Amino acid sequence: MTRLTRADLEALPAYVPGRNVADLARELGIAEAIKLASNEVPFGPLPGVPEAVAAAVAQSHRYPDMGVVELRDKLAARYGISPERIVTGCGSVALAEHLVKATCLPGDEIVYAWRSFEAYPIISAGAGATSVRVPNTAGHGHDLTAMAEAITDRTRLAIVCNPNNPTGTSVRRAELDRFLDDVPDDVLVVLDEAYREFVTDDEVPDGLVTYGDRPNVVVLRTLSKAWGLAGLRIGFLVGQPEVAGAIRKVLTPFSTSIVAQAAALAALDAEDEVKRRCAIVISERERVTEALRKLLPDVPSSQSNFVWLPLGDRAAAFGAACEKRGVIVRPFQGDGVRVTIGTPEENDAFLAAAEASL
Ligand code: PMP
Repeated sequence: MTRLTRADLEALPAYVPGRNVADLARELGIAEAIKLASNEVPFGPLPGVPEAVAAAVAQSHRYPDMGVVELRDKLAARYGISPERIVTGCGSVALAEHLVKATCLPGDEIVYAWRSFEAYPIISAGAGATSVRVPNTAGHGHDLTAMAEAITDRTRLAIVCNPNNPTGTSVRRAELDRFLDDVPDDVLVVLDEAYREFVTDDEVPDGLVTYGDRPNVVVLRTLSKAWGLAGLRIGFLVGQPEVAGAIRKVLTPFSTSIVAQAAALAALDAEDEVKRRCAIVISERERVTEALRKLLPDVPSSQSNFVWLPLGDRAAAFGAACEKRGVIVRPFQGDGVRVTIGTPEENDAFLAAAEASL
């Protein structure tokens, strides 16, 4: 058959979403399965969000505000930055994709840690850019020294996922300062802070506060996690005005929907509730980590809303064993298993499954 799509995409692994809960419940013949596979927060939409969505749906025959003015103003006020530096998009993963489009030509290099967020290789390949994966340290965190050394004349982007998905590890201020000082001025450093709201270590810097003024730093944030809007797809990027402007040029027009904009505005009004929910997740994260370490001593400390079990070759079997007990986790074959922190009851069900299989 005549080839109609790019040959190089054949070798590219597809993004694997967490398994569908209803499917698993049906297969096991149980009322409900538990999904701890996609780093969502388990408490339902924030107060005010369903009403705001319903009101926005009444306008759904109209295009959204392409400038996303009201939301960008609100984010600007919340984070103390000017609105011209903010770009919103259909999830922060879409913004990462636009960022690659705005910076890389085919053959340019993108340096990132591995293992890290599985979308990075996909969006790099999509733009014809070359992924330069720098192996994590023995402690499952970024090796920033090696990442700086991996930068060449072809490097356009360096991505630091902080905290890192899927290992939950984080880089601290002193090492990130050093890295940013080492990176050439013409390489854009992306701080992917999808899990920032779950950070409790004061030494893990808030990219917006600490590095917001650096010309070659861009920060990615999402409303999918702590803010509970995963299903509505909204994230934002903060960079210097010229960088933000270039990214805006390659955005898919109208990609922040009318519903996503309304929901994000309502979510930002519910910040006290977000903080309350994050506190539960954080305390559960510490409880789950401690319990897991009795079974698997080298579970790394997590600054996110998930934990990493470095099970190596046992990862797939562990994932299957949890599923048999009605708990969906996220195995990365040959490497480890990522488990999202759920409600206390969900976490207990997971820990029982872990105990039975480890
Ligand atoms: N960055 C990281 C590190 C993530 O883990 C995720 C979600 N899994 C995202 C970005 C994307 O989030 P979203 O597109 O939902 O905003």
